[in-house]
Amino acid sequence: MPPIDGSDGLKAMIEDLVNKNRVMIFSKSACPYCLKAKDLFKSINVEYHAVELDKLDNGPAIQDTLQAMTGQRTVPNTFINGKHLGGYDSTLKAKENKTLEVMLDGESYDYDLVVIGGGSGGLACAKEAVKHGVKVACLDFVKPSPQGTTWGLGGTCVNVGCIPKKLMHQASILGHSIEDAKSYGWELKDEKVKHNWETMKNAIQDHIGSLNWNYRVELRSKEVTYQNSYGEFIDKHKIKCTNKRGKVQEMTSRYFILAMGGRPRYPDIPGCKEYCITSDDLFSLPYAPGKTLCIGASYVSLECAGFLTSLGFDVTVMVRSILLRGFDQQMAEEIGKYMADHGTKFIRPCVPVKIERLEEGQPGRYRVTGKMQDGTEVVDEYNTIVVAVGRDPCTKGIGLDTVGVDVDPKTGFVLASDGEQTSCPNIYAIGDVLKGRPELTPVAIQAGRLLAKRLFTSATLKCDYVNVPTTVFTPLEYGAIGMPEEVAIDKFGQGDIEVYHSHFLPLEWTLPHREENVCYAKLICVKSLKEKVIGLHVLGPNAGEITQGFTIGIKLGATKADFDNAIGIHPTCAEIFTTMNITKNSGVDISVSGC
Ligand code: FAD
Ligand code: NDP
Repeated sequence: MPPIDGSDGLKAMIEDLVNKNRVMIFSKSACPYCLKAKDLFKSINVEYHAVELDKLDNGPAIQDTLQAMTGQRTVPNTFINGKHLGGYDSTLKAKENKTLEVMLDGESYDYDLVVIGGGSGGLACAKEAVKHGVKVACLDFVKPSPQGTTWGLGGTCVNVGCIPKKLMHQASILGHSIEDAKSYGWELKDEKVKHNWETMKNAIQDHIGSLNWNYRVELRSKEVTYQNSYGEFIDKHKIKCTNKRGKVQEMTSRYFILAMGGRPRYPDIPGCKEYCITSDDLFSLPYAPGKTLCIGASYVSLECAGFLTSLGFDVTVMVRSILLRGFDQQMAEEIGKYMADHGTKFIRPCVPVKIERLEEGQPGRYRVTGKMQDGTEVVDEYNTIVVAVGRDPCTKGIGLDTVGVDVDPKTGFVLASDGEQTSCPNIYAIGDVLKGRPELTPVAIQAGRLLAKRLFTSATLKCDYVNVPTTVFTPLEYGAIGMPEEVAIDKFGQGDIEVYHSHFLPLEWTLPHREENVCYAKLICVKSLKEKVIGLHVLGPNAGEITQGFTIGIKLGATKADFDNAIGIHPTCAEIFTTMNITKNSGVDISVSGC
């Protein structure tokens, strides 16, 4: 660097360097903090220009001028995109709280973060992000179902998923409790117990309405900008937002989060989209469904079939292949058997071929033709047909190709790193739109919260998608964490797996009028890993509560001995896991008849 005399000349020279270089560091070659600062930029692959002041005759004069310009005489003295950043500590702090990225970017945007989708994951992420002082907007827009059903803020879980489903499940259990009460001596005089669909539906929809309202209030009070608009990318930092009335607005943002969730899929057969409903419509159905066919054999279909049967409807499930693909098949079959014993009919293996309307009405009357695996045709009439054959991610037609976000070409699920970053670096994805992740509310929430912390603080913790517990809310609930037995055998070999199992009494006071020995639990252990428990499965009342409780133990690597060492709580269902001593291999009778 040529020596320049006079502070005005030095000032002009410093300004020139600062303006010409994205990262400009005034440094000293032997200074350890200067080395650290340079290493920091190297570690994030950012080029910098450094002037080593100790090698210049006028180095001290430059430091004096820097002090006059910035208030800082010490080195390193760093500028980014023309703005003064400071010394090493400031640089490190900026890296940790992500403002370094913002300075390096050099652009200014309307928002630091725009979340597309105000469901479980999107709301959790937006609310976490604002806590860290950044500007956040959240878009949520519900396209009506083919039957015209629509709903408010909160996404699938609150409006057409977990919450109304659990309430209908509870309503059906309540019906059994009334039966149970009779066996304790309660009597109903004259009046017969009858279920009223409309009353239940209205109560549930009122509850959902209040949740929608609370979400809006919460966003406002936390200063997240909420827009009831549909988002489509224009470029990787700009989105087009279209509201219900077709009004268009553009927003720019440094980061985007894809949290659009999924919607029910329809099989491509005549009459299906016109005449069938899905879980998007069932929970707000204005009339009692009557004789119902549920097509599909996984979570949604079995849960809906379960509560509808328990509420007194004539229900059939059309199963294409197996029940609950991906779950422990022994448990899945036990569920099917229990449901069949309690009135649900099953047609299997069978797929629907066509659906015809015989009568309009609420409910109407429809003829469903199905094809059994052996080619036989089955025909029956139903008032309501619930299609539950899986869900497609809402990733089509929103410009993901324009911004270079890679999706699975077959399914449309978003491909992302283990830190939820997509192939477009400033766009992330969480929840049901992600490929290969469990489609569950707590997973979307956890991923959203942790991602917001990583984006706007120095946090590094990623969402752990392993050992995610889940529960199928069929009439007899099924809770699971870890591997199904067949997966464990595949992975470790039959010889290395020990399965402990037991029937258990669902407690005389819980289900007095039901058969004994339907409730069942098993622990899957790996012998060579000191009997580490790699799968816990339970079929019985409150299986969700039980499984949640044991989740921490499984995540911490609990062994069978740890389970044995835990003292049970009597009389509960969960205590069965502390006293299991019969292996499946032994063939010993596992029936129980008392405590
Ligand atoms: P969602 O909650 O689906 O939210 C996405 C939101 O984005 C929606 O409001 C959508 O309309 C909106 N959106 C889409 N595209 C755009 C766009 N371009 N612009 C603006 N907004 C857009 N999980 C459990 O853990 N337990 C259960 O018991 C359970 N039961 C379920 C029962 C049923 C019947 C169903 C269908 C699902 C159930 N789930 C359950 C799954 C759970 O609901 C989902 O995993 C969860 O809601 C996913 O959250 P998300 O944030 O990814 O998406
Ligand atoms: P899934 O993708 O889990 O299952 C789809 C079901 O439909 C399978 O039984 C499948 O059979 C069957 N199927 C697929 N295509 C056809 C067809 N053309 N004809 C007939 N049957 C067909 O979807 P769900 O809708 O049940 O659930 C979606 C997700 O929502 C779940 O994965 C879950 O994560 C979440 N969820 C969670 C709940 C909970 O936590 N309790 C409750 C409800 C949903 P096959 O096995 O032969 O492929």
